Amino acid sequence: MQIVILGAGYAGLRAALDLDRLIREHGYDATVTLVDQNAYHQVVQVLHLTATAAIHSREAIYELDRLLRSSDIQFVQSRVCRIAALDRALELADGRRISYDRLVIALGAETAYYNIPGAKEHTLPLRTYEQALALREHIKAQFSAAAGAANPRVLLTTAIVGGGFTGCQIAGEVADWSDQLCAETGAPKNEVRIALLDRGPALLRQFGAWAGKDAQRSLDRMGVSVYLNTKIEAVEPQLLQVEGKRLLRAATVIWVAGIQAPALLAESGLEVDSTAASMSIGIYGCAIKA
Ligand SMILES: Cc1cc2nc3c(=O)[nH]c(=O)nc-3n(C[C@H](O)[C@H](O)[C@H](O)COP(=O)(O)OP(=O)(O)OC[C@H]3O[C@@H](n4cnc5c(N)ncnc54)[C@H](O)[C@@H]3O)c2cc1C
Repeated sequence: MQIVILGAGYAGLRAALDLDRLIREHGYDATVTLVDQNAYHQVVQVLHLTATAAIHSREAIYELDRLLRSSDIQFVQSRVCRIAALDRALELADGRRISYDRLVIALGAETAYYNIPGAKEHTLPLRTYEQALALREHIKAQFSAAAGAANPRVLLTTAIVGGGFTGCQIAGEVADWSDQLCAETGAPKNEVRIALLDRGPALLRQFGAWAGKDAQRSLDRMGVSVYLNTKIEAVEPQLLQVEGKRLLRAATVIWVAGIQAPALLAESGLEVDSTAASMSIGIYGCAIKA
């Protein structure tokens, strides 16, 4: 039996390693193939630290070659373009086609933009290692440019859209990093602004009211301005248009306002509902019995 696992994130890597162990322990006639677009496993929960240079960038990734070395798992590095479920086959970006008997889908989630005009084009997301590196370089460049600018306020303003877990974490880290960046670049500290915006009435809603209040107090102490009940209507370069015709100018807009299931699933004709993004893993074929 050919078992193929899509995604070498938390869910996919764990599933691959556990299945490989079971197959070897019980002598099952099965192979495990793991497919990921990257040659590394990314430690997603430290990406906000990578994005703000709080850790060395290599600390956020582990080479899959090394993680899989003592297993029989076959690793294929490629981006999956389509799942042809009726043919039990996958189409990869490099033109290869892989057949499977059982398929485990663990592709994680994508940033959700809710069709807000300009949101995808003019903001920086934070869901992957590459995005974290891009965000880090972008923020550094704004501070460097601000050092010699006549009006540095916009360059030194970071707006974070989304007051969930990732939004609160990155807001705190940007605040922490700003002092260091000002010292390194000569950018004026008194012009630094950090705004965290959420369309809901509280931060960290999934953890309850106490957590939101606690987070707000901590962020306030760190100099982060929190704007609740603030809905973004459109984004333009360096400009957030807020409901009620208010405008916020910021050279860095970080979009962490939510996630959705990878578009690839619906494009492949698989059923996707609003809970799919929070479900890390799906198994196509039938249940795998251990
Ligand atoms: C900044 C940040 C901090 C977080 N902190 C925490 C925390 O402290 N605690 C916590 O529990 N959760 C945290 N989370 C959430 C947590 O990271 C996710 O819930 C978790 O990563 C989901 O695991 P997963 O295996 O489903 O997907 P992922 O870990 O995202 O893995 C998906 C994998 O699929 C691959 N992939 C995607 N599309 C394709 C394709 N088309 N072809 C090939 N490969 C593809 C990707 O390269 C990736 O390796 C955080 C998230 C973020 C963004």
